[in-house]
Amino acid sequence: MIKFCKKCIMPNTKPDLIFNEEGVCNACTNFENRKKINWDQRKKDFEEIINKYKNNDNWDCIIPVSGGKDSTYQVIKILEYGLNPLCVTSSTCDLSDIGRKNIDNIKKLGVDCIEVSPDPQTRKKLNQIGIKEVGDISWPEHIAIFTIPIIISVKFKIPLIIWGENSQNEYGGPLSSVENNILDRKWLEEFGGLLGLRISDLTDQNLINKNKILLYKYPDKEDLQKNKTTGIFLGHYFPWSGISNSILSQVYGFSSFNKNIETAFVNYENLDNYQTGIHDYFKYIKFGFGRATDIACLYIRREIIDRETAIKIVDKVDGNFPWTYLDKKLDLILKNIDMELNEFISICDNYTNKKLFETDDKGNLIKQINGNLIKKFKIT
Ligand SMILES: [Zn+2]
Repeated sequence: MIKFCKKCIMPNTKPDLIFNEEGVCNACTNFENRKKINWDQRKKDFEEIINKYKNNDNWDCIIPVSGGKDSTYQVIKILEYGLNPLCVTSSTCDLSDIGRKNIDNIKKLGVDCIEVSPDPQTRKKLNQIGIKEVGDISWPEHIAIFTIPIIISVKFKIPLIIWGENSQNEYGGPLSSVENNILDRKWLEEFGGLLGLRISDLTDQNLINKNKILLYKYPDKEDLQKNKTTGIFLGHYFPWSGISNSILSQVYGFSSFNKNIETAFVNYENLDNYQTGIHDYFKYIKFGFGRATDIACLYIRREIIDRETAIKIVDKVDGNFPWTYLDKKLDLILKNIDMELNEFISICDNYTNKKLFETDDKGNLIKQINGNLIKKFKIT
């Protein structure tokens, strides 16, 4: 049966999550270990690195920016250090109005920006393949947010890329990846959301022309070596907190949503893509937890809410059928990828883990009137 971390409420259905003998997950242990980190030393390490990359004839570094609270924080931080970054945005699959506004806000902070928008027709195909083949509509986006800044790094000869947090540290992952402060091809292939489906699989099967997926391809090893492309995580050098990033970013013009987003109980994150509600829902039907659990766990670790409160919140919010996201209706979101509601529901049913959700005698999922599933388990 499903097991939960004794400290936070993360279930053992989460891929790569490891529990210690006391039943505490590695995301919690990583967070505790942060307290032992000599942050002054890390700050010095950071200063040493950036000093090596200061360049009067070119940009000093690339900052990949989605326009979210974290990327706004990254830009503020890098500007504080007197660097001249080139901000690179890989636009989301279905950019929301508020996402647009927040990208434009970053431009006002006093930085050069490049916004790269892969062909929407191809992207639509990739969204369809992603949701059908691996149960993740955001599969192409998760590739492009990593490949595009690296492509720009090579093309513009800017070796240093400054990423945000190492998601493996905050959310839990294998030990070797947690202390890794560099994002390279190996990291991307293991943790960058490829889910076992590679972009080359699609061209091999002639599903998509090679010249239509150039922005989803990691540059050649030789080009990377020649350019000495290096990625570092800002979260390795400064204590990372999404809440703190959000508060700071808002002072610098970042807009939060006018109410809590549908899949969580906050209003300051995942605001840039209308498809995120679908993405979060698939995580829930596969593993029994969604975005609300992720955030609740961050809050527990930072002692903003206790475990009992977190359970109450998650029971109410997590895993609701994504009828809207950022107030946009599901049928309109699906229309963008040429999908009917019926087809969407049947794909959801295919990906739903029936060990986690109630079924009838015939093995069909039981749904509430609002389309929500019924959990077979309780967070304990
Ligand atoms: Zn935990």
